[in-house]
Amino acid sequence: MSTPNHKTRRLSVLLITPEVSRRSDLMIVGEARPSVSDPAHVDFAELLSACNYTFDIVAPEDIAPELFGDSGSVKYSSVVLAVPMRGLSDAALSVVRQVSYELGISLVAAYDCPDNRSAAWFGIERFNGKRMLWPLKAKIIRWPNADGTACVADYGLASGFAGVRRRGLRKLSLKQTLTKGMSLISSLKMPYKRTARAPKTRILSTTMRGEPLAWSYEFGDATNYYFALHGDFFLDKYNEMHRLVRSAINANSGHGMVCADLDQTMVWRLDDPGASKAEYLDDGCLLTEKEWRELGILLEEERTPLSVMYTPGWVDDGNHRSGEVFIDDKLLTERTPGAVRDSARVKYVFSDRHKPPHDHVSEFCGLETLVKKGVVDVHSHGLTHLTPDRERWAAAADKGTDTRWYTEFYCTREDRAVSAEDQTAAMTKSKDKIENLFGTPVAVLTPSSHRHDHGSDALAQAAGYKLFSADYTGIIKGDVLVRNWKIPALMIYFKEPSTSIVKAGYPLLGVVHDYEVKTSLEQFRRVLRRWMAAGIKRCVSLNSLAASLCSQIDASYSAKDAKMEVRITLPAATRPSRLPMPRVAADILIKIVVPPGYSYTGESIDVSGGNLVSMEKPAQNTINMSVRAADAKSVRIVIPVRQSQSNMVSSSDGRNRDLLILR
Ligand SMILES: [Zn+2]
Repeated sequence: MSTPNHKTRRLSVLLITPEVSRRSDLMIVGEARPSVSDPAHVDFAELLSACNYTFDIVAPEDIAPELFGDSGSVKYSSVVLAVPMRGLSDAALSVVRQVSYELGISLVAAYDCPDNRSAAWFGIERFNGKRMLWPLKAKIIRWPNADGTACVADYGLASGFAGVRRRGLRKLSLKQTLTKGMSLISSLKMPYKRTARAPKTRILSTTMRGEPLAWSYEFGDATNYYFALHGDFFLDKYNEMHRLVRSAINANSGHGMVCADLDQTMVWRLDDPGASKAEYLDDGCLLTEKEWRELGILLEEERTPLSVMYTPGWVDDGNHRSGEVFIDDKLLTERTPGAVRDSARVKYVFSDRHKPPHDHVSEFCGLETLVKKGVVDVHSHGLTHLTPDRERWAAAADKGTDTRWYTEFYCTREDRAVSAEDQTAAMTKSKDKIENLFGTPVAVLTPSSHRHDHGSDALAQAAGYKLFSADYTGIIKGDVLVRNWKIPALMIYFKEPSTSIVKAGYPLLGVVHDYEVKTSLEQFRRVLRRWMAAGIKRCVSLNSLAASLCSQIDASYSAKDAKMEVRITLPAATRPSRLPMPRVAADILIKIVVPPGYSYTGESIDVSGGNLVSMEKPAQNTINMSVRAADAKSVRIVIPVRQSQSNMVSSSDGRNRDLLILR
């Protein structure tokens, strides 16, 4: 008989959730417009997908022994229970107990998930009712994976925001305002369970008065983790508690873990080049070739890549009196209201001679140079940035002032959805056109003004996009779409930096527009630096973010062979690009957690199918690396490990960091 430790173990997570919605063959987790607070399973799916943990989702009624392994291998390192276990049958419950106790699969649960039948698996002897958390803070005193320091996680009001609103409220409808208000009020009530615990629980977190809020417990071959905080709320705000959960998943029962390393990472997204609203909206403008060049110098100086969301379709309003249109420098005499032209070929000369001509050709050339240099990657901001009802727009008297005309994937003026056919056509054409223009694959779609309906992200998936970057980040991986509100895109010119998102360990997208950057490059530099000062460690491109979030990471650990094996498969799009590799490198940023008690032997790490770009050892049992895939569709990494000589506690204050930059 082979013991669990002689089996190969997949380093992955099973998430047990109530039913999730499916749209044909796509499983969708989360809401495009969430209600007051997210259910616990959505918070967990967001936390897992934001670090690209490999996870499967299963409903309680599908729990069966064969789900967890066979004679040669164990399929999971952790099970996250996001449903109350009182709903599980005795048979399902006994499977969960057995895989934890005998196969050493670590269980993670919160609040009222354990019932009387299962409480003892988490070291809970008795539930003693609930209390409100006050003050709204939790001390973290110990980290399961020794990857943090003692701190206080804040559940206060401000921790609900990734950035702090600076001036003016972005227009919110009455309904949105009420929902926001409700969610703020409900967020001030945070119940937790009081318990009596078994003697051997290891306390990880307490209230400010010292009452235990989270602990681990050795149960047979497993280490299980319990969080006494209310499941719907405890991962709702940005604070260190998210890191504690990740630390528990990384430590599991001691089998190691591999996931994406996107901690303290930011993407800078610049929207709107190519869009004809530069001509039609009062005060519209664009960046000239010279201004792009200056922006490129700034980006190199600040060591910051920039991801530009381009609009390849330019819409003609057919109005000779306001201005003349040149295509490839030739005057366009036949003007058709609502016709779509190629932005990259259009020059617009205003009849009002006080306004300088708008040259989208020069804009394109400036942008193309930066793409070739590798400073900028280009993705899609739709086809036209304008309502599909283009003829009505062209005839409208208020098209210079009413910004509601300029949303392509939602009819903002009439508050109704755009047909799926129109959305799909715009998404597909835009992707094809941008890929042909710049010669690089397009992986990300941003709907204009972040306006969209409940199905736009699924349509984007079908059109071949991997990320949907709106007010939330839609992460498309295989046949699962997670609407991840924990990776927000912030209109940076309206926000002051806050450190909350960095504390929680999520990546952040900062959105700027060409018209904001045009006003003052130095102001853009100051904005950039203010966010870096708020704890951002590095900036990466959307290409890197998409590769890190959407690649399939298959990792396994074999104690018998003393090695960890990682295979990273680049995402396969439903509509593959004809262009194989992006010019701006798609670096896959990964974190490898070596099983506790073991260490990386220092022998060379074998990377096949790609290049190791950099490697860092932030803690004794953690290796962060950046890998660039070569032409191969997958990268394979083998990490030899051996039992550590000393049981030295790793330092995580950064002083003893080993930094190895390989190239
Ligand atoms: Zn826009």
